[in-house]
Amino acid sequence: MFKRFIPFAHAQSVYEVPVEFFLNNGVKLLLIDLDNTLDSYRLYEPTDRAVEKLNEIKQAGITPIIVSNNKEKRVKRYADAAGVECIYSAHKPFSRRIRNFLAKKNVQASEVMLVGDQLMTDVLAARGAHIRVLLTEKVVKEDQWTTHINRLFDRPIRKHLAKKGKLPDWRTKNGQI
Ligand SMILES: [Mg+2]
Repeated sequence: MFKRFIPFAHAQSVYEVPVEFFLNNGVKLLLIDLDNTLDSYRLYEPTDRAVEKLNEIKQAGITPIIVSNNKEKRVKRYADAAGVECIYSAHKPFSRRIRNFLAKKNVQASEVMLVGDQLMTDVLAARGAHIRVLLTEKVVKEDQWTTHINRLFDRPIRKHLAKKGKLPDWRTKNGQI
């Protein structure tokens, strides 16, 4: 019943995952959720650690793309400051905007991974686009009000998956390492 929520791997946060994990898993394009994956929803500018992480990914030859349900004004400003492309108003859990973007980029689904903190949006959208997903926990406690409803579903499903051993730690999925 919860099969569609099972991520490829799980991490405490994107910041604990070295770029080798993505390289070892054949990732060429990395879709990264913004709110509570990279930074708090309150920030319009990326934190230093977010910029560093995105630079590390770029320097490894992987293209990072910020993919957020939030509006153009917020997402574009953040992405521009971080020097990366973005998909705003992404409509996750629907995958159409992501699929259209990937088709334009001429990249295979097997070369793409999505990183996000929510089962109800990030994991479902990745599943719809047939791409792997790295599920994380929230980077800050606070959520935007629109996320509260999702969390009501997210929390028990996440607990259930953890109990069943269906949230594999990224270290166990680290390709050649
Ligand atoms: Mg998020």
